[in-house]
Amino acid sequence: SGVACTTLRRPCRTMILVNPHSGRGQALQLFTGHIQAMLTEADVPYTLVITEHQNHARELVRNADLSQWDALVIMSGDGLLFEVINGLMEREDWQQAIKTPLGILPGGSGNALAASLHHYSQSPPAWNEELLLSCGFMLCKGLVGPLDLVSVHLASGQRFFSFLSLAWGFVADVDIESEKYRHVGAIRFLMGTLVRLASLRVYQGRLATSTRHPPSLSSPPPGHVAPDASPKQPETQSNNATTSPVDSLLPGLDQPVPDNWTVVNEEDFVLVLAIYQSHLAEDLWTVPGATADDGLIHLFYVTAGISRPALLRLFLAMEKGSHLACGCPHLAYEKVRAVRLEPTSQQGMITVDGEVVEYGPIQAQIHPGMANLIRG
Ligand code: ADP
Ligand code: MG
Repeated sequence: SGVACTTLRRPCRTMILVNPHSGRGQALQLFTGHIQAMLTEADVPYTLVITEHQNHARELVRNADLSQWDALVIMSGDGLLFEVINGLMEREDWQQAIKTPLGILPGGSGNALAASLHHYSQSPPAWNEELLLSCGFMLCKGLVGPLDLVSVHLASGQRFFSFLSLAWGFVADVDIESEKYRHVGAIRFLMGTLVRLASLRVYQGRLATSTRHPPSLSSPPPGHVAPDASPKQPETQSNNATTSPVDSLLPGLDQPVPDNWTVVNEEDFVLVLAIYQSHLAEDLWTVPGATADDGLIHLFYVTAGISRPALLRLFLAMEKGSHLACGCPHLAYEKVRAVRLEPTSQQGMITVDGEVVEYGPIQAQIHPGMANLIRG
C-alpha cells in the first residue's frame, strides 16, 4: 500500500506472548512447528512468554521495562492483542509505550487482525497454517506502519482502546455464543451464524455518528506549538502530560450528541457493527476498502425486517467482500469517525474486539495511527 513504513531495528528484541488456550488449544505447538525456525533463520531474537490466565498479558505489558523490547508480538486470537494494547495505554508513559511495534501471529479462533494484515499485503487469501506462515514472514521482514485505535466509553465510566470492532446484536451474539465451538477453529463463526439465524431477533436503540476529523496527534498543522514545548497539550487532559488521550469528538455519555452529529432514523436493528479493519474473521471480508490507518470507523447496520435467507446471503457474500453489492435494502454502510449507541432493549450483547463488555450506552471515536503494527 502507499503507507510510509519504517523498518524494525536489528537485532529486533521481540517478546512473544502465547495464549496456550486460544483457538483449538494448539498455539504453542503451532509456534514451535511453524514459526520458531523461521525466526531463528531470520536472526530475530525472541523471548517466549506463555500466558497463565486472562489479563496476564495486560498486567505484564503494563509493568514491563519497554526499553528491553523492540517489538511485542502475540500468538493467539484478537483477544490477547486487546489485552496488550490496553496494558500499554494504562501506563503513565502511554504516549511512548503505544508506539512499541506490535505484531500478531494467528493462533486463535478469531484472527481478524491477522487476516486483515495479510489482506493489506495484497497477497491472495490464506487460511489456517498458510495465514500463520504469512504473518511469520511479515515478522521476519519487520516493516512497521501505523495502526488506528478507537477509544471506547461505557456508561459506567470505563474507557478502553479497541483495534478491531464494536458490535451489537447479531454479530455480538454470534461471536460470544460461538466461543463454545472454539475447538473447531475459525469455522466457529459460520456455525454460530447458522445457529443464531434460527433465533433471529430485533434490538431497539438509538444510533448516532459524527464524520468530523479529530485533531491529529502526530502531525499538528504548521504553526502549532510542538506538544513537548507546551505544558497544555490539545490532546491531553489538564496539565498532566501522562493522562490518557482526550476524545475531542465525544461529549459525556450523559449529554446529548452535538448538533453536528447525525442521528440515524431507524431504531429497530438486527445488528450494528463498527469495524476499523478489513476483516471481521478469517473468512469475513467486511470492509473492502479499509486499511490499517485510514482514520475511519466503518459503520454497518442491518435494520429490522430483513429475512433470514437475506441475512444469510449477506454473510455468505462477505467471504468475497461482495455483500454491499447484494442490493439489500436493510443493509447500511457509512464511514464515520465517532459513533454512539444507546440500546433501549433490556437485554443484549455488546462486544469490543470480540470480548463482551457491559451492556448499555456506549460511544467511541477514532485515534488515527495511534499504535504501530508490524505488517507486510
Ligand atoms: P480466541 O481467538 O481463540 O478467542 P483469544 O486470544 O481471543 O483467542 O483469547 C481468548 C481469551 O482468553 C481472551 O479473553 C484472553 O484474554 C484470554 N486468555 C489469555 N491467556 C489466557 C490463559 N492463559 N488462560 C485463559 N484465558 C486466557
Ligand atoms: Mg477471541
